[in-house]
Amino acid sequence: MAVTVLAIVFLGILVTVAIAGSRFLANRSATPGEANREKCSICRRSFEKSELIMREIGDYKLLYFCRECISKLHADSEIRN
Ligand SMILES: [Zn+2]
Repeated sequence: MAVTVLAIVFLGILVTVAIAGSRFLANRSATPGEANREKCSICRRSFEKSELIMREIGDYKLLYFCRECISKLHADSEIRN
């Protein structure tokens, strides 16, 4: 009798873990757009990767810049010259 109760409890835990796991996976796959989005390194706004200009700093660091910030930088450089 006690073994049956333990088995049911164990089964319940397994089901709970399985449901939690599948929800976690569903949440991850529910936001596929997030993988294609990055924040601009200057203004920290989120953009599609295709809208951003990417620059590699050193071996590992990737920086993204939005067009707006780039044109601001360009304008600043024109003022200095
Ligand atoms: Zn920006």
